[in-house]
Formats: sequence, C-alpha cells, structure tokens
Amino acid sequence: MNAKAISYFSTRGQTSPVSFSDAVMMGLARDGGLLLPSAIPDVRDQLDAWSALPYPALAAAVMQPYVDLPPADLRALVDRSYASFRHPEIAPVVSVGGVHIVELFHGPTLAFKDVALQLLGNMFEYLLAKSGGTLNLLGATSGDTGSAAIHGVRGKDRIRIFILHPKGRVSRSQELQMTSVLDQNVHNLSVGGTFDDCQRIVKELFNDLALRDGCHLGSVNSINWARVLAQVVYYFYAAFVVMRRTGARTVRFAVPTGNFGDIFAGWIALRMGLPISKLVLATNENNILSRFFRTGEYRMGTVHTTLSPSMDIQVASNFERYLYYRVGENAERLRDLMASFARDGALHIEPSRGGVDPLIEAGQGDRAATLETIREFYRESGYLLDPHTAVGVHVGRHHLAGGEPMICLATAHPAKFSAAIREAIGEDVTHHPILDALEGAATRATTLPAETAAVRDYVVGHVG
Ligand SMILES: *Cc1c(COP(=O)(O)O)cnc(C)c1O
Repeated sequence: MNAKAISYFSTRGQTSPVSFSDAVMMGLARDGGLLLPSAIPDVRDQLDAWSALPYPALAAAVMQPYVDLPPADLRALVDRSYASFRHPEIAPVVSVGGVHIVELFHGPTLAFKDVALQLLGNMFEYLLAKSGGTLNLLGATSGDTGSAAIHGVRGKDRIRIFILHPKGRVSRSQELQMTSVLDQNVHNLSVGGTFDDCQRIVKELFNDLALRDGCHLGSVNSINWARVLAQVVYYFYAAFVVMRRTGARTVRFAVPTGNFGDIFAGWIALRMGLPISKLVLATNENNILSRFFRTGEYRMGTVHTTLSPSMDIQVASNFERYLYYRVGENAERLRDLMASFARDGALHIEPSRGGVDPLIEAGQGDRAATLETIREFYRESGYLLDPHTAVGVHVGRHHLAGGEPMICLATAHPAKFSAAIREAIGEDVTHHPILDALEGAATRATTLPAETAAVRDYVVGHVG
C-alpha cells in the first residue's frame, strides 16, 4: 500500500489540504470549489485479486487507499451500510436485451442514491462519535435524494436532518418515502413553493456563515466526495461480473446523468486502471452535458420537465471535478472557466482531434425515446426499465461497438416511476411491496411558507 496518505484539495486551489474525514464533514471546500484526492491510485496489479470478491469486501478494498480510517473500521461501516440492501449481491448484473444491466436499486428507497447515502450516514455517525460533535443536515429535494438521505441517517445519534420538499409537487410515493419516516431526528419541511424556492432557501441559509457554523449545518448533496467514492465500487463490481460472464477484456458503461456524480465515479474507476474503454453519457432533454461532450460548449439552458425527473438538471454540480482534470489540473484555468460560466452562463473547451474527450461518448434520449425503449425492452425480454435507466439503455445501444459488452446502470426500480411505466406499456405492470406498504402509513411533516426566515426559525428551534 502507498505509504503517503491521500489528502484532499480544492479544485479552485485556494485551501490547504484536508484529510478524508475532514473532507467528508466539509462537503464543499471553503473556497467554493470541490474536494479531490491528491492522487488517484493505480490498482491494475490488484484487479485479478479483486475480481472474485463479494461486494462488501470489494468496497472496502477500493475505498481503503482514499480514507484515513483503520481497515477494520471501514469494513464494519461498509458491512453495516449494505446489510440494508435486499439483494445478497447488493448490485446484481442482469444480462438482457443485448446489454448488461447492473441493478443499483436494491437499497431502502429503491434508487441508486442509497448505495452512497447509506454509507455516508454511517460515516457521519462514526466520525461524530469520535469527535463528540453534532451535525444538522439541511437539503432541498425534488424526490430521490431527500428520501435516500433521510433513510441514510434516520435514528442516528448526533445527527438531525431537515429536508425541504415543494408541497404537492413531488410524486406521492416519493413524498410518502420521506414523510413516513417518524424518527425524532428527521424533519420533513413541506414548503409552499417550487423546488427552486426550496433550493434558494437552502442556499441562503448555507451562505449565512454564522448560522452555518453556529448550527453545525452540513450538506447531503452529491458533491460530497464520500458519495462519489462509494459509487466507484460498483463500476469495479459490474465490470468483473461481466468480464467473467462474457470473457471480454474491456467493457463500456452507459450512465444516465444529471449532476455528473455517477459518471464521474466511473471516470475515477477508469483512471484507477479498470479496463473501461468508453463511458457513454446519457441525458434526457436537459442535455447541457451531452452537448458539452459533442461540442465543447457548456451552456446553461432552461430546465425541462421530463419522465426522468432526477436528471432534470442544467448545472451539474460534479462537473467541476471533471473539468479540473480536463484542463490539466490547473486550478487557475479552472477558476477562469467557472467565472466565465457564472458571468455568461457558458464556458468553452477546445476539442482536440479525438473530440472533447476520447473516453466519453454522449447522447440524448427524449420523451419518445424513453417510452419506446421501455416498451420495446419489455416486449422483447420481459424486463422493465425505469425511465432514467431507459435513457441510459437508449443511448448505450447507439454506442455499441466491436462486440464489447455494454453495461447499463439501472438507477431506480421501475415501480418508483409507475406513471411513466403505465404510459409506456399501457397497464400497471410494476409494484414493489415497500411502496405499496406506504399507502395508509402514518406520516409527519411540517408545512412552512416559502420564506427563508420561516425555515431559518424552524431549523434554529430544532437543531441538536
Ligand atoms: C440522481 C439520479 C440520477 C442522476 O445521477 P447523477 O449522479 O446526478 O448524474 C439518475 N437516475 C436516478 C434514478 C437518480 O435518482
């Protein structure tokens, strides 16, 4: 193992290095940048040894070089985090319809965000027990992130969580997945406004540094490095399974993308030496990222409402991490680009001969393509794709090459998006006992107006 521990620095280059534990508690760097590891370990000589490991052992092996936790403690955290998954393999791979689907939705809220947020919740608890501190997590959600975060920290000592959702504007099952959690440390705030109102309020509260420090506010959004790291693991796991199953020596991944978190984890796996020949980035109509990888221009558009709402994002919060490497690990150049994006809503990278990035291909799947892919896949093979996964499969199937296996990430269980499934198939073919059991469950939420002061008062009155 490398003797020098990995530390974390900001993409904007204006902070001193911090440890993994500090990076986890910090989330965003103090200079507004994102934290990155000081080195990406090359693990090529360990791939053979890792290839037969069960998921939890593999997770501990992949993450250990990046963390400052004793191996036995990391392993215990990993085991506890994935014990909540309902499939013994954690992330099983189903070979169907000419592709390989890695199912990342067997966690408590039936979306892939559980893979990272179950672990992050346990890491927070572990680090707070060591430091004796408390943490008050604050976030806004349009659905999946909020419920996965709530399920990651429910019932935990030293942690309270405040999640704002727009009242009456999240799907019924998403709302119930949040409000049916009755643990005392969980505060669901049902805000009389839009998701943008919720996000604006959260941002304003975080920007109040006195409040942020005084109340020990923390964030659960996808910029936390521990979330990215937890997601690196399933790229290894799925690639090993598919290489064993097919005899292939390299693989491709198709990744439905919103905040660039999931696909950035794949990019890290690639940099570590996993034989991924291409990452195929898939967006819905909110195509800022697919346009970037085709043209080099990253230009904000307006947000469209689609059948894959967890990808209805224009500004991808993890993109800055990728961009930092793309500009040659030059923090000053990165700062210039981010300033230009803040000023003009656009930034530009000059494509080279291999395109913007020879390792990343990109495409888009609109509403019609999403419905058609769900319908066709179901008709051909009886396998039901959720609308996010369908976007990835649609684009992935357009980027097959040379008989190389295409691994498509399945990011949610179809029953979570049953309205889209009904629209595609024409009948109600998907249910999940966890979701069905929510009907009629007891719920708790506090209704607040879309005013920063009202939310601030509530949070200040209920912090630990
Ligand atoms: C969050 C989410 C995505 C997008 O993941 P990013 O890391 O934001 O790119 C895709 N599908 C589902 C179901 C999600 O919840």
